[in-house]
Amino acid sequence: MNQHGYCPHCGADFDGEKVLDTFKNKGYTDDTALAMASNHAGFKEYGLDNKWDNRIYVTEYSTDYSKKLKYYKCNSCDKRLT
Ligand SMILES: [Zn+2]
Repeated sequence: MNQHGYCPHCGADFDGEKVLDTFKNKGYTDDTALAMASNHAGFKEYGLDNKWDNRIYVTEYSTDYSKKLKYYKCNSCDKRLT
């Protein structure tokens, strides 16, 4: 199942590897890896299958500095998503 979607511009898959696998691959014990993974956003919804989000979250001020902009960018083609 795709968790984070695909880029509408270039088709890049925004799902990274499973969060739990990342911590296991770093050498943590299963218990520690699970504890770390369970603190990560999305765990409540996706549990052990929860995956990293490869999108880039951007916060910046508008050109006249009147407001703060928040949006996602594609990590492959660098285009704005929202
Ligand atoms: Zn893209």
